[in-house]
Amino acid sequence: MNVVSAVTPMMAQYLSIKADHPGDLLFYRMGDFYELFFDDAVAAAAALDIALTKRGKHLGDDIPMCGVPVHSAENYLLTLIRKGFRVAVCEQMEDPAEAKKRGSKSVVRRAVTRLVTPGTLTEESLLDARRHNYLAAYARIRDTGALAWADISTGELRVAPCPAVRLGPELARLSPSEVLLSDADEGDLAAIVTDTGAAATPLSRGSFDSVSGAARVAQVYGAETLDAFGSFERAEIAALAGLVAYLEITQKGRLPLLRPPVREAPDGWMQIDAATRRNLELTRSLSGGRDGSLLWAIDRTVTAAGGRLLERRLTAPSRHLPTIRARHDAVAHLVDDRATCDRLRDALRGLPDIDRALSRIALDRAGPRDLAAIRDGLACAADIAAFAPPFLSADLTDLDALTALHDRLDTALVAEPPTLARDGGFVASGADDDLDAARRLRDEGRGVIARMQADYAAETGISSLKIRHNNVLGYFIETTAAHAGTMQARADRFIHRQTTASAVRFTTTDLATLETRILNAGGEALEIERRIFATLAADILDHAAALNDTARALARIDVAAALADLARSDRWVRPEIDDSRAFSVAGGRHPVVEQALRRQGGAPFIANDCDLGPDTSHWLLTGPNMAGKSTFLRQNAVIAVLAQMGAFVPASSAHLGLVSQLFSRVGAADDLARGRSTFMVEMVETAAILNQADPAALVILDEIGRGTATYDGLSIAWATLEHLHDVNGCRTLFATHYHELTRLADRLPKLVNATVAVKEWQGDVIFLHEVRRGAADRSYGVQVARLAGLPAAVIDRARTVLAALEKGEAEGRHTAIIDDLPLFRAAPPARPEPPAAPDPVAARLADVQPDCLSPLDALQLVYELKSLT
Ligand code: ADP
Repeated sequence: MNVVSAVTPMMAQYLSIKADHPGDLLFYRMGDFYELFFDDAVAAAAALDIALTKRGKHLGDDIPMCGVPVHSAENYLLTLIRKGFRVAVCEQMEDPAEAKKRGSKSVVRRAVTRLVTPGTLTEESLLDARRHNYLAAYARIRDTGALAWADISTGELRVAPCPAVRLGPELARLSPSEVLLSDADEGDLAAIVTDTGAAATPLSRGSFDSVSGAARVAQVYGAETLDAFGSFERAEIAALAGLVAYLEITQKGRLPLLRPPVREAPDGWMQIDAATRRNLELTRSLSGGRDGSLLWAIDRTVTAAGGRLLERRLTAPSRHLPTIRARHDAVAHLVDDRATCDRLRDALRGLPDIDRALSRIALDRAGPRDLAAIRDGLACAADIAAFAPPFLSADLTDLDALTALHDRLDTALVAEPPTLARDGGFVASGADDDLDAARRLRDEGRGVIARMQADYAAETGISSLKIRHNNVLGYFIETTAAHAGTMQARADRFIHRQTTASAVRFTTTDLATLETRILNAGGEALEIERRIFATLAADILDHAAALNDTARALARIDVAAALADLARSDRWVRPEIDDSRAFSVAGGRHPVVEQALRRQGGAPFIANDCDLGPDTSHWLLTGPNMAGKSTFLRQNAVIAVLAQMGAFVPASSAHLGLVSQLFSRVGAADDLARGRSTFMVEMVETAAILNQADPAALVILDEIGRGTATYDGLSIAWATLEHLHDVNGCRTLFATHYHELTRLADRLPKLVNATVAVKEWQGDVIFLHEVRRGAADRSYGVQVARLAGLPAAVIDRARTVLAALEKGEAEGRHTAIIDDLPLFRAAPPARPEPPAAPDPVAARLADVQPDCLSPLDALQLVYELKSLT
C-alpha cells in the first residue's frame, strides 16, 4: 500500500494546518482536548512535564502525541509562553454532527483562531493584574527610528520617535514582553531586545511599510487617514503598521479594541536608562522580584488599573510642570481631606478591571463575569462621582451616557454570574419574557402540565381528566370512556389519538406545542441567553471609548488617593518643583530602607539634608563602608523620581528643579559575582554619562573607579568628577573611598565635601548615618572588618600594616614602605619562622591597601591568604 495514501483524512488536515505554522506549537482541538503531534508533542511534553504517548502511524512511524484538557489549557499555555514557545490554537469550527452528515470520512472543519504569544495575552489567569503587558514594534527608516507599543489587554496604544541608541533605555522603561522587529534589521536590534528579557519576534519587512501601513492603521479606527490622530513621522507609522499587522496575524482578523495612538514626546519624561533603573530598584529589586523595590514600597493602590498606572508613572516621571503640579494638587487635596480620601479608597476596593474585561469582550473571549465587571465598574463610578471632589470627578463626565448601559446590564444579569457563558444561568429572571417562559418550562415542566390539566378539566367539566406521558405518545390527555362523548363534541380542539379498554386519549395543538417546548426548553433557554450575551456585549462595545475613559479616571483617583494615604501615614511632603536648577532636600529619607528598618524594629532611619543648588551642585561624599553613603545617594535620586511622577516625597521639605535625565552607577567592586569584565562595564557606563548628561541631569556615582588598581581608580574618579563639574555642569552626588579626592574641593568652586559621620568607641566604629559637611578623617576599614567578623589575629596585623603605611605616607614614601614593615619580617605569634624563600603571603599582603578594602574584600583576602599558607 502506498504510504502516502495511508494518511488519514484527519492527519492530512493536521499536516496542512501545521504547514502554515511551522514555528508554533499547534494545539489541535479534538473534543475536550487540545492534542499535539510529532515534534510539537515531544517539545510540549518535555516543557509541560506531561506524558508523551503515540497515536497511529505516519509514513510507517509512530506519531508521538500529547494532549491537554481544554478546560485547564490556560495554565499549560502560560507555562509554554513563559518557556518561550508560541502556540497556535486550532479549534473545531463546526459541530462534529455536521461533519458526520457530510459523510463518514468527513473531518470536522478546523482552523487556527489565534496565536498565543507573550505580547498578546488577554486572559485574566495569564496576566499579572497589576502590570501592563506590552507588545512593542520597532521600525527603522534610514537614520530615524520609532517604537510603538500596545497593551491589548487594556487597549492602550502609544508611539514615540526612538533612534536605535535609545531603544535599550526605552525598552527598559516599558519592559514589554514581546518586541516585533523587521526581519530586514533583526540582528543587532534583536540582541538589545533579548537583553531586556523580552521575546524578539521577526516580522516581514512589508508589514512595516509606512505607506500601505498608514491606511491599514487608519482602518482600525474606521478612519480615512491617520491625520485625525495627529501627525506622525514615517518611522512612527511604520512601527504602528507592524504592530497592527501582527495583531491581525495573531488574532486572525479579530482586532482588539485599540485606543487611537497617542504620540509621546521624547522629552516628555525623565530619561532613565536600564542600569539606573536597576540600581535604584525602581520596579524590581536587585534580587529580581517586586518585593523590596521602590514600587513595592509606595504602592497603596487598591485596584489593578491603579496599580498599573502607578507603575507607568514611576517608570516615566514627567518633565511637564503643569502635569506634575496637577498631580501634586490632587494628592495635596486628599492629604488634607482624609475623610474623602478614605471613602474613595473604600469605594474603589471592589472595582473590577474594566479595561481588561472590555478587551476580552472585544476579542470575543469574554464570559458573563466580564459583563458583570462592566456593570459593577459603572456602579462604582457612579458612586464615586456622587461625592468625589470636582477636580477628581471631572473625568467622570461620560457617566450620564453610561447610566442607561449600566441599567440594562443590571436588569439583565444575575448578581454573581458564572465564569462561562456555555452553561447559561447568568441572565436574571424577569429580564426577558421568552427566557423566563423557557426556563419555567425547563424547570417546572410538570407544573405547567398540571396547570394545563386543571384548565382543561375546568373547560370540559371533566374533573377526572388527566394529562399523562408515555414513550409512544409523549404527552396526552386521558379521560375515561364515559367522557368520550363530551370530548368528541369538542373535536375541533381535542384531537383523538387512541382508545384503550378503559380510556380515551386526546391531544391538542397547545399540548403538542407545549411538549416540544418542554423538550426544547433547556436548549432554548441557553440560546436566548447566548443571544442576550451577544446583545449586551455589542451594547458595551458601542460605549467602549467612554468606558475606557471612565476606567482611566478611576485609576487616576486610585493613584491620587493611594499616594495621599502614603504621604499622610509616612509624613511625606509636597515638593516644590520648577524649572530652576535647585535641589534642596531637608530631612530626606529612603522609603525602602526606612521601611526595612521599621520592620526590623531596631534603630530608626536618620533623615539627611542635601543641597545641590547652583553654587553647591557637586557633592563628594566620603565615609567608611556601611556608613550609609549609597543610601544617601539613592534616596536623593528616588526623591527626584517621586516628585516628578507626581507623588509627595519622604522629606520634611524639598525644592527641586526639573531633572531631565537621571543616571546612577555603582562601582564594579561591589559586584564580585559578575566577574572580570565588570570594570569594563563600569567604564562604558561612566563614559555614557559623561557624554550624555545635560545641565539639568542628576548624576549619582557610587564608588566609581573601584574596579581597578588604586592609582588607576583614583585617577579615573578624579578626572570623572572634574569633567562632571567643568563640562557637564549637572547636579552630582559622588561617593568615594578615595580620600585624596577631597582635595579637589579647593580647586572646584561648586564642589562640596560631605561625609557620613561615625563615632569611634572603644576601638569599634559606630555608624551615626548622619551626612555632614566636610571630609571623612579616615576610612575605618579595619574597624568595619572587625565588625564583619575577621579573626582577631588578622585585625591586629592589619592595624600594624595600616599604622606603618600611614607613617610612610606622612613621610612621603609610598611604595618602599612595604619593605620596612616589621610585620613581614617578624614571626607572627602563632606561626613558625617564615622560610627564607619569598613568602607568598607577604608578597600578597604587599599589594594590599587596607584603606581600600570593603569588608567583603577583606574576607576574600583572608581566604586567599589562607590558601597561600
Ligand atoms: P555604604 O554605601 O556607605 O557602604 P549603605 O548606604 O549601603 O552604606 O548603608 C548600609 C546600611 O546602613 C543600610 O543597609 C542601612 O541599614 C543602614 N543605613 C544607611 N543609611 C541609613 C540612615 N540614614 N539611617 C539609618 N540607617 C541607615
